[in-house]
Amino acid sequence: MLLIKDLYAAYGKVQVLHGISLEVPKGKVVTLIGSNGAGKTTTMRAISGMIKPVSGRIQLGDKDITGMGSHKIAKSGLAHSPEGRRVFSTLSVTDNLQLGAFPRLTFGRPRGNVEQDMERVFELFPRLKERSEQLAGTLSGGEQQMLAMGRALMLNPDVILLDEPSMGLAPLLVEEVFRIIRHLKEKGVTMLLVEQFAAAALNVADYGYVMENGNISVHGPADQLKNDPAVKAAYLGAA
Ligand code: ATP
Repeated sequence: MLLIKDLYAAYGKVQVLHGISLEVPKGKVVTLIGSNGAGKTTTMRAISGMIKPVSGRIQLGDKDITGMGSHKIAKSGLAHSPEGRRVFSTLSVTDNLQLGAFPRLTFGRPRGNVEQDMERVFELFPRLKERSEQLAGTLSGGEQQMLAMGRALMLNPDVILLDEPSMGLAPLLVEEVFRIIRHLKEKGVTMLLVEQFAAAALNVADYGYVMENGNISVHGPADQLKNDPAVKAAYLGAA
């Protein structure tokens, strides 16, 4: 479904990704783990067109999306829920969600029923429903994080990139986010997940890649990575 081949990316002259290759098969959850600054967010940004890769190939289904703008990539069916609280702070929760559906309404994607999809997002995040008319900028950090995820879901994407969906959330809400990821997985949504809670990410994922300094150092089925002594010691907080 999503295929990355030999991807290089840089910020100005600083090379960050040094030729990474990975694959997210249809209906699977793949997680990208690695220490701070390894290049996980940069990988997500390059895939969704927020930054232009230096070289390499990114393929979504049978479409080559390398170097396309982010709006066009969204129209092709790839949603990105970015790290941090990237919401439109002066718009209401409902308006933010509606904007998430916008790329599919212009052309190319099945239009579907936006109202129905919004109800589905509100079922997943009842907290957002209670605050539907509230300005996004006045939501708590955790609520904004949920809104960013809900907005990505409004695209009805074929593939969703989730960058640190649990960041800044209280423990109970972290559990809630993982419950939602599991629910989406059961519904067959294809996901690439970056998470600070690597052990929890490997529990929900089918497959994992470990990034170190802009390279993939190890990859394998999630169960195998969970039991890999080096991965355990470095990323799972156990020897
Ligand atoms: P974290 O877990 O801390 O979020 P990460 O694996 O997601 O880390 P990236 O955010 O992709 O890492 O950062 C990779 C490298 O790129 C880091 O050295 C970072 O300082 C650098 N970098 C990230 N964004 C920019 C930018 N806008 N301009 C310049 N350098 C950047």
